Amino acid sequence: MEKNRSILLIYTGGTIGMVNDPVSGALVPIDFRHVSAQVPELRRFGFNIESMTFDPVIDSSDVSPDTWCSIANTIKGNYARYEGFVVLHGTDTMSYSASALSFMLQGLEKPVIFTGSQLPIGVLRTDGKENLLTAIEIAAALEDGLPVVPEVCIFFENRLFRGNRTVKYSAEHFNAFVSPNLPPLAEAGLQIRYNRSIIRYPTIRRPLEVYCNIETAVAVLRLFPGIGRATVHALLAQAGLKGIILETYGTGNAPMSGWFLEELRSFISGGGIVLNVTQCQAGSVEMGLYETSAGLISAGVISGRDLTTEAAVTKMMVLLGRGLPESKVSNLLSRSLCGEMS
Ligand code: ASP
Repeated sequence: MEKNRSILLIYTGGTIGMVNDPVSGALVPIDFRHVSAQVPELRRFGFNIESMTFDPVIDSSDVSPDTWCSIANTIKGNYARYEGFVVLHGTDTMSYSASALSFMLQGLEKPVIFTGSQLPIGVLRTDGKENLLTAIEIAAALEDGLPVVPEVCIFFENRLFRGNRTVKYSAEHFNAFVSPNLPPLAEAGLQIRYNRSIIRYPTIRRPLEVYCNIETAVAVLRLFPGIGRATVHALLAQAGLKGIILETYGTGNAPMSGWFLEELRSFISGGGIVLNVTQCQAGSVEMGLYETSAGLISAGVISGRDLTTEAAVTKMMVLLGRGLPESKVSNLLSRSLCGEMS
């Protein structure tokens, strides 16, 4: 056994560790001991696997910035002792958490692999075992003594994705996640094939830094034909609101009505930040391509290019939480910080 190589499993909750409550019949989270009892194969890995369980374990609908901080601080506190980390997490908000962690853990040089499952691990047809075992293998993979994937990722079904590129796409299928604008970092078949040309490797060595101050005064405004001024105004006039993610049509287009641009202008001139992402499942915002987005540029809206909403929200929350001047936040929002946009 390679006693020198150790992986830490961080069990936060979610279906992977759930059982049917004998009384209500509903799925309820249980202690991680259930997971390890269900996967005796864990003992066959040739390295140390240790685990810690959140108290209480939670359904991922209850995940909050405090949960992200607990995950980040657990990684920071154990960074020197482990070669990689596997975070077991509910699928519902996994893309938000993986995105948030990618922005919170700056200078990361080790794998942080999120996984979970669509069926509880105790169920005969569970997808949880495969997901867990392969996630561990990826978290432990070394080449020339260095981690093969030193990024925050999601492994699900048979693909490894950069976490901040993912979206939960299916509430039913085993391949629950997609990464619409970036190919998988690895595919697991008979072998695990890594796509090294797109995996990000650190260029400078610096200590791991954790940004745990998360600004929650942000909102998402999804446009729809017929959206009224009162709705837009009620959102933007909210006291203390620092920024919004504007989900626009196609390549970043929005209504040309004077009132709409006026509402945006007044929010931006009061110090608010507006980040434009597309409602489309794939592709990128290209402001200025159509007249319907030219007005957004002059109002001071920032292009989120091909950011997912999940990455846009969490990137804005983390950057605003860092207490940087607004111009710096805007500048960082329009640049890729950890591979989140093309
Ligand atoms: N509701 C569960 C959760 O996100 C679903 C899952 O684990 O897949 O925690």
